[in-house]
Amino acid sequence: MNSVFSEYKDFIQEGDLALAWISRNNIKAITIEKDGVFNTRYGSFLHSGMIGKPYGSQIAIRTKGNNKFAFIHILQPTPELWTLSLPHRTQIVYTPDSSYIMQRFNCGPNTRVIEAGTGSGSFSHAFARSSNHLFTFEFHEVRYEQALEEFQDHGLIGNDDAKSNEAFKNVTITHRDVCENGFTIKQTDKTSYKFAEGEDEVKINANVVFLDLPAPWNAIPNLDQVISKNEKVGVCCFSPCIEQVDKTIESLIGNGWTEIEMVEIQGKQYEARRQMERTLDDALIRLKDIKSRKLEGVERRKRLLEETMNDISHEEKTEDKDSKRPSVAKTRYNPFGKGQRIKEGDSNYSWLQVTKVESEIKSHTSYLTFAYKTISKERDVELVSKLIENSG
Ligand code: SAM
Repeated sequence: MNSVFSEYKDFIQEGDLALAWISRNNIKAITIEKDGVFNTRYGSFLHSGMIGKPYGSQIAIRTKGNNKFAFIHILQPTPELWTLSLPHRTQIVYTPDSSYIMQRFNCGPNTRVIEAGTGSGSFSHAFARSSNHLFTFEFHEVRYEQALEEFQDHGLIGNDDAKSNEAFKNVTITHRDVCENGFTIKQTDKTSYKFAEGEDEVKINANVVFLDLPAPWNAIPNLDQVISKNEKVGVCCFSPCIEQVDKTIESLIGNGWTEIEMVEIQGKQYEARRQMERTLDDALIRLKDIKSRKLEGVERRKRLLEETMNDISHEEKTEDKDSKRPSVAKTRYNPFGKGQRIKEGDSNYSWLQVTKVESEIKSHTSYLTFAYKTISKERDVELVSKLIENSG
């Protein structure tokens, strides 16, 4: 099975893992079945009405009790959509961070990644799509089992009957405490890796490392045994507190990592809008309006107080109160708020083009500490001459 996360498909088929987009904050994973039903608070959507339609299709039903329509969209999963819809077993890495990290490391077909811990597998899906191989480590046994099953369901890891590592796709998950026991994967370990005959230890040769752990400084000394020796290797540590960054940097320096830099991604969404132009005259009208309303209010309160003091009966009070409330004529257009509503862009008024920042955007902000290491700085003469030969 190829991974639905890395290969495009045109049509929805039985057996597919698909994502039902209900709203921006409500995306649900469904496995398409001939007799399946997807229930929502708006009504029930039959899977049979989805099968054969192109991915991205809108599926509509009549809502119960009234004659309105409810609709959802059926989308093919991508790592980005999975991040928005996955079952949270832990805090996760969101796309603003994961995409930045992968572009900074230039992740591609030659990238061999170490990730610890796996957690909810949010970042693992993104790495799996854009790397040669991902070696991910998780020390929580239940989370390890859940992630293994999920990766198999998503075609990132082959099933147990797969004969070779190639059939095992490009993700390996290992149950391990990487701070205590390092990253080396052996025959005796609990791992999804399929060892070949005579192979006792996995040649990880990672050139990218991502550590999302509470104490990355304890894992850093274990990296030398598993990173590539003859190329520049990058590490990124993902930590929410500055104290963690401090300890991480100490460990990176102590273990020979260089070019250390800390970055924080702040997601911002800019919204383009039109704002009505306001003149000085508008401001004067507004001030006069406020003043007259204030005076009316003071007068009314004064009258009510006097009436209470004179002990007027309740009925009389109510009647009187209503008759004395100033009848505020429906206000004309007021450029500063109250009054007649004007639709944005109304051609009877002048507008300015402005942008606004939407402050609430979901991105789990942590500090990203980057560093690099080249273990062997000797020139590989054979490799260099091969490269020169090929480039000629
Ligand atoms: N990056 C993940 C994602 O995007 O879904 C979330 C990782 S979660 C915040 C941290 C995970 O690291 C947890 O599942 C935890 O069990 C695991 N962990 C913590 N210490 C570990 C260690 N020493 N070795 C391996 N895994 C560890």
